[in-house]
Amino acid sequence: MQLIEVGMLDEDLAYLATRFVVAALAVLAAGTTLAYVLRIRRQGRPVGVALSGSTILGIAAGMSIHDALDTVRLLPSTPVALNSWMWLSCFDFLLPFWGFLLVRAWRARDRAEAELAELAMTDPLTGVLNRRGLMTRSVVELIRQRRLGGAATVVTFDLDRFKAINDRHGHDAGDRVLCRFAAVLASGLRAGDLLARTGGEEFALLLAGSDAAQAAAIVERLRERVRAEVAHPAGVGGVITASAGIAGVDVAAAPEMALVGALGAADRALYQAKHDGRDRAVLAAPLPDVAVAVACPSMP
Ligand code: GH3
Ligand code: MG
Ligand code: MG
Repeated sequence: MQLIEVGMLDEDLAYLATRFVVAALAVLAAGTTLAYVLRIRRQGRPVGVALSGSTILGIAAGMSIHDALDTVRLLPSTPVALNSWMWLSCFDFLLPFWGFLLVRAWRARDRAEAELAELAMTDPLTGVLNRRGLMTRSVVELIRQRRLGGAATVVTFDLDRFKAINDRHGHDAGDRVLCRFAAVLASGLRAGDLLARTGGEEFALLLAGSDAAQAAAIVERLRERVRAEVAHPAGVGGVITASAGIAGVDVAAAPEMALVGALGAADRALYQAKHDGRDRAVLAAPLPDVAVAVACPSMP
């Protein structure tokens, strides 16, 4: 292969400096991918592809360092050739860039996956959690409460005679009521509490750190606010009301089982509230199928 000499001192020094810059970039790229591998390993996710990427970049970084040191050794006797510059730009320069692009692509994929997971747990109309989101997040919260020796209560809410609102004022008006209802419930949440839309006009709350008696007081305040703050499509003549069922969660039991059991008990209490005339909350007794009416200050 014929070498074309492009000069001596200035070009040689520029070449040498570039070699070291490229070697530093290659090390940085390899380090970044390695840090990424360690991070996803800590998260318990598969590292296969990322590991092979960081290995390739590690080898490339080694080669770049070797080339840089070799240049120092050879420069006094061998002038820089044009094809050396070509190789430097075509191969060594592109590798670190490839490394950064790789990590950027992985991160973008991670973000997209996280957004998808979030979407899969979110109700599109109201923006609160859906049933799947409630189940997933509650497990974490119930484990935390068990560690703290705290309590937890679930509340199921259902708007009263909501179908009539849709029938008389249209589906869009019904949607606005649902969104406002969700906003009022959400504004009463404290850290650790969860709100989900579990069905058409049915919502569920997990009140972390509250026992059933404390939850009953919270629910009455929320129901008061619903009456006052959720506008009825008919205007001042109409009032939106909600019924609720309240059940304590057995935080000592397996979280999923405890949650399903409590949601079932709260649903039965809600059914009782509807049966008793709506616009009230009913507290489920610890034994299934036994429900005790809660005094409701807003009721005549
Ligand atoms: P009750 O007091 O016994 O709960 O009576 P209800 O009319 O509220 O209950 P019912 O189950 O008969 O009706 C629920 C209605 O909720 C029927 C359905 O059209 C409406 N619905 C369900 N999902 C949506 C939604 O996303 N948007 C709107 N606007 N309406 C919905
Ligand atoms: Mg209803
Ligand atoms: Mg319903």
